Amino acid sequence: MLTMDKKVTIKDLEVKKGKVDVEFIEVDGKQIILTHIPYGNIDHYVTHTNCRSCKVEFKKNFNYSHTCESCLDKSNREKYLKKPVVTAPYDGIIYDEYTDKYFTCIEEVIEHYEEDEISLDNAMLLTTVSSSYASIDIEQISQDVVHEDWDPSDELLEKIEEFNKFLETESTGTVFPTDERIDISQYLSDLKGDK
Ligand SMILES: [Zn+2]
Repeated sequence: MLTMDKKVTIKDLEVKKGKVDVEFIEVDGKQIILTHIPYGNIDHYVTHTNCRSCKVEFKKNFNYSHTCESCLDKSNREKYLKKPVVTAPYDGIIYDEYTDKYFTCIEEVIEHYEEDEISLDNAMLLTTVSSSYASIDIEQISQDVVHEDWDPSDELLEKIEEFNKFLETESTGTVFPTDERIDISQYLSDLKGDK
């Protein structure tokens, strides 16, 4: 994050030539450089820059910001609209890319937007999928702890299999957004029609 209080654009910073002493040794005729060369990047010292997309100057949020907020929003929305679509209602947990929040149903999304007085047009809703635990295998538990001729016992193999089956039935209580967007436009106009 940028910490400078004063506005600085790239035009305010002059790149000057300096001299760096480099220490090296020679090994088999090759130079091995010993000096740690400090790495600088002008992006760290510039607070305002011109947006790559609309060319208008904006205040950077991050060192490497090159696109203004509104162009970024626009491009995120374009990407969102290209995703495959499912039509609401949707039964699962809903992830909203715009607010970076999870919701249990569309009504909850609507309420949240009403409370925060944000237009629902901003919402970028995605379906989610439950995660599952990774299974364990014999290598994970035996690596580096058994001798060369070691073989797992049948009992050990059975227990691992049993444990892996158990893991499949255990819920992680965790969902991740998918790449599928939820279209709520019809759902919303039906809601209005009911009122
Ligand atoms: Zn822009």
